[in-house]
Amino acid sequence: MAEQETKARKTIAATAHMKKLMADHFLGLDRAKKEKTPKVAWCTSVGPAELLRALGFAVYFPENHGALLGATRLATDFIPAANAIGYSPDICSYLTSDVGAYLKGVTPLTKAYGIESIPRADVLVFNTNQCRDVQDWFSFYAREWNVPIVGIHSHRNLGAVEQHHVADIVAQMKAMIPTLEQVSGNRFDIDRLREVVGLSLECTKLWRQVLECGAARPAPLTFFDTTIHMAPAVVLRGLPEAVDYYKLLLKELHERIENKVAAIDGERHRLYWDGMPVWGKLRDLSGLFSSLKSTIVASTYCNSWIFDAFDPSQPFESMAQAYTELFIVRDESYKEAYMDAWIEDFAVDGVIFHDARTCPNNSNSRYCMPQRMAGRLSVPTLVINGDLNDLRCYSEEQTKTNIEAFIEQLDEKR
Ligand code: SF4
Repeated sequence: MAEQETKARKTIAATAHMKKLMADHFLGLDRAKKEKTPKVAWCTSVGPAELLRALGFAVYFPENHGALLGATRLATDFIPAANAIGYSPDICSYLTSDVGAYLKGVTPLTKAYGIESIPRADVLVFNTNQCRDVQDWFSFYAREWNVPIVGIHSHRNLGAVEQHHVADIVAQMKAMIPTLEQVSGNRFDIDRLREVVGLSLECTKLWRQVLECGAARPAPLTFFDTTIHMAPAVVLRGLPEAVDYYKLLLKELHERIENKVAAIDGERHRLYWDGMPVWGKLRDLSGLFSSLKSTIVASTYCNSWIFDAFDPSQPFESMAQAYTELFIVRDESYKEAYMDAWIEDFAVDGVIFHDARTCPNNSNSRYCMPQRMAGRLSVPTLVINGDLNDLRCYSEEQTKTNIEAFIEQLDEKR
């Protein structure tokens, strides 16, 4: 069923180019690992990638590997290996599946690109803006390989981002530079950082425009497209390739909008997705929503790589602002106002909250937000229980039944 219905979501032609970019990215990292140049820095997905690129590192994002483990449905097999050495099944399943895969000596990169193993880090760089798990995750590898780990300890649960928050993050970023210079063998150059921040700014502006295409009626793309096409914004930001890619993708999406080409023919309902994707079920869920003529037109997750604040004239301050003003870092009031605006702008009929068992940080249904939202906006909400990677937390039947009932509710409301 899923395969047949997935075809109802139209394929984006630019995907072929993106796959090539991703292959080049991983093969480049593999080369760097083998030739020991450039040095490899691991970075959290909303960590200070620009600083690392400016210092000449090849940058690897383990969360992207975690998502690959989930999407290939290997994650659930590896999680027990991490549990066995003491990492709880209740903590981030990116962490447990990635560490488990490492302990088993397996990576999906082998099947995808012929790469034997993940690129060993020369240095690990985290930002706790998203969660504490990333620090613990990177600390495992720092101990394993006896390599340096440095990071930014972010302020969390913020209403407004104040000047003292920004000043503190700037100081923490600057404090990392001596270690990063020593590991990379390169001197820090502020002009190079400005250049990289400028490229990240271009990338993020284009990525925002891609996501904003979802506001068109019918929507030319869905959440199941953006979870795939966000990859360059995550792993290639700061490089010209990402900028070129989003120009290509945008051209195709604008053509779709002009010709009223829908991602899902006969779009009846427009939905908002809050929380992590269920990586191992993207295909099935895409098929289900297509069959229900319902398009997920916006999500907080894919918006996480919009960094409006980047400014090459103030590279440190603007990075500190951009990486602190993210949705995941903010308090409930900010999050609700943010979502309300997207729901209104995208003419959303209903909101789905994914309560991911092992990611409380990206699950926003636990403190009554759906109920408040439904009351405030008169928009129906649904909470589905699952996980980003641990499919033992996800019930296929239960989820399908709940989504179908939710869409029926939307039908009645029409
Ligand atoms: S935000 Fe959630 S999914 Fe991402 S690393 Fe942290 S716990 Fe894991």
